[in-house]
Amino acid sequence: RIVVVGSLNADLTIYCERLPQPGETVHGNGFAVNPGGKSANQAVAAGRLGGHVSLVGAVGDDPNGHMLLASVAGAGVDVGRVRTSTSQPTGVAVIAVDAGGENNIIISAGANGTLSPADVAEAADVLDGAAVVTLCLEVAMPTVLAAAKAGHDAGAKVLLNLSPYAHIPSELAGLTDVLLVNAHEAALFLGPGASVPGAGAHAAQWDAVRERFAERGIRQVLVTLGAHGSVVLDSDAPANRTVVFVEPTSVSAVDTTGAGDAFTGAVAVRLAAGDGLADAAAFASVAAALATTRKGTQAAYPEAADVERRLRA
Ligand code: ADP
Repeated sequence: RIVVVGSLNADLTIYCERLPQPGETVHGNGFAVNPGGKSANQAVAAGRLGGHVSLVGAVGDDPNGHMLLASVAGAGVDVGRVRTSTSQPTGVAVIAVDAGGENNIIISAGANGTLSPADVAEAADVLDGAAVVTLCLEVAMPTVLAAAKAGHDAGAKVLLNLSPYAHIPSELAGLTDVLLVNAHEAALFLGPGASVPGAGAHAAQWDAVRERFAERGIRQVLVTLGAHGSVVLDSDAPANRTVVFVEPTSVSAVDTTGAGDAFTGAVAVRLAAGDGLADAAAFASVAAALATTRKGTQAAYPEAADVERRLRA
C-alpha cells in the first residue's frame, strides 16, 4: 500500500492576457475551479496507475472539499483518512495564468494547516501496512516529520518531494529514503554556491551533486528536469550506476501543470511494486510526459495501460 500524507487544494485559475502589476486590475478571459494540491495530485496519479493508495489529509466542510474528495476517490484512492475540519475552509490555490503560460500562485492552507501529528497517529493502521509513504511540504513540518517517522518505523520507503521548497531538519533528511526535486529545489537544498548542472551535463558533474546529497544524509535522489527528462542519483548503486539519465519521453505538451506530481505518484507505484529506482524513474518519465498532453492536472493523469502502451511503442 502507498500512503500519501499531505495537502488537498482547490485550484482557482483565472486566464488572462498578462499578469497584473501590483495595484493594477486586468480583465481575465476564463475561470476554472479544479481539484489540486500536491498530495491529492500525487495520490490520484498513483491511484490511476493502479496503486493501492490511502490519502491522509484535511479539507473543509464546503463545496471545494466535496469536489476534492470526489476527484480523489474517483481515482480509486481511499479517502477514509481525509478529515473534515470544522474550523477551516478547504485549502485554495489562486492561480493567474497569462497568454504565454506564465503564472502567479498564492496558496492559502486552510484545512491543510490543521493537519497535525495527531492525524498521523490516527492513521496508524494504514501507515503500518505501507510499502511507500509519500510526503511533500504543503503541510506543517511537524506533521511531515511525524509521517516520515511512522513510515520509517513501519519499514516503508519514505519519499519526500521537497516542494514547495523549505529548509528541512536533518532528522527528516535522515528518515528520507528517496528525495524528489526539480533542478531549482535541488540547488536550494544544496545551499549557497551549489549549482546543479544543466541539460547535457556529464555523469561526472552529476556524481559530484550526488556526493553533496549523500553528505547531507540523502542517498537516493530523483532530479526532474522538465522537458529534459530526469536524473537518478543513487549512492547505494554499484559504482557505474550511481548516475543514470532518464531520457525525456517526446510528447507535444499542452499543459505541464502537475507533471512533477504525476512523476512522484508514478515513482511511488513502481517502488511499491518492487522496482529499483532507475526503473521506477523510467516508468514515471512516461507517465509524467503523458500527463502534459492533456489540459488540467488530476483529470489529465494517465492509466497504467496508457503508460505500458507508450513503453512498448
Ligand atoms: P515540476 O513541475 O515539479 O517542476 P518538472 O517540470 O521537472 O517538474 O517535470 C517533472 C517530469 O515531468 C519531468 O522529469 C519529465 O519526466 C516530465 N515532463 C515535464 N514536462 C515535460 C515535457 N514538456 N515533455 C516531456 N516530459 C515532461
